[in-house]
Amino acid sequence: MTRALFVLIALLLTACSQNKSTSNLSKNSLEITENSIISLYDAFGENKEGLIKDFGFSCLIKYNGKTILFDGGTNADIFKNNVKTLKIDLKTVDFVVASHAHFDHINGFDYLLKVNPKVKIYFPFDLFWGANIPFDISGKDSTVVSTLEKRMQYFNGNFKDYHFNQTGRFWNANIEFIKENTEIEPGVKLITTTSEYMGYFNKYPSIDSYENCETHSAKFNGLKEISLSLQSEEGEVVIVGCSHSTVEKIISETKNYTHTNIGLVYGGYHLLPYDKDALVDLTKRLKNDLEVKKVAPAHCTGHLAFKMLLDEYKENYMFAGLGEVTKF
Ligand SMILES: [Zn+2]
Ligand SMILES: [Zn+2]
Repeated sequence: MTRALFVLIALLLTACSQNKSTSNLSKNSLEITENSIISLYDAFGENKEGLIKDFGFSCLIKYNGKTILFDGGTNADIFKNNVKTLKIDLKTVDFVVASHAHFDHINGFDYLLKVNPKVKIYFPFDLFWGANIPFDISGKDSTVVSTLEKRMQYFNGNFKDYHFNQTGRFWNANIEFIKENTEIEPGVKLITTTSEYMGYFNKYPSIDSYENCETHSAKFNGLKEISLSLQSEEGEVVIVGCSHSTVEKIISETKNYTHTNIGLVYGGYHLLPYDKDALVDLTKRLKNDLEVKKVAPAHCTGHLAFKMLLDEYKENYMFAGLGEVTKF
């Protein structure tokens, strides 16, 4: 009897100590379960030991058995620090999405590629960062070339069908440039948009051209962007980088392509430049016209839009600060 009691107490003690060690484990290591997003790089959030805040954007997503990295932040050292602090093994990343070619979204890839050099990266079809496109180098007066000595002609005159064959920003990386909306895995879609406000001129524009951007003669290549849309029970979960194409355009394009409602929009809404009047309209349009169920604004969304989206969405506003896990 006494021996049975002793065994029972011993068993209870063992169970208690196991529970204790399990709870300690979950406290120290981050649980990133299926259908969740963790912020790896941002300038706001709870103060969490070891994490460094900085302006830029990166997050890691677990979806359908896949680990997806979206963007890489501004500074590769800070990105490395945050990844290590959160005990994330970048070797386990299945593929990467680069939202657009701005420094605050891609510089961390220099560290990623040291750890996982051959990981697939989906990149917008952006000439200035690696896309190989045909390029007309004949110029405006096709008759003049024959008047020049061969050594003054591009490729000694053999420039027909020339196209760039550049190594791009990430030499030897496994990059696929995405031109149009694409489903890359079941339920995983890349949404392509172009910013009408940012990009590259390839001819000096006149003063007048700036004012009449739609009609000017200087050719303007809008900035190419990719957003990531994941099918979920609550609708599409859309992850945006900096929304230079405008968050509304990205949402509309996602709805057109997926024929599904929007469950959540996570990431940079790029609303920093806008005042209160503009944001009143926008927050209402997001909720009522575009029927976005939940918002998780981050990065370039801005303090004013954080506040206004919070007031509008209340319990459907998901806090997505640095190191935070957002489930969907
Ligand atoms: Zn940007
Ligand atoms: Zn940005």
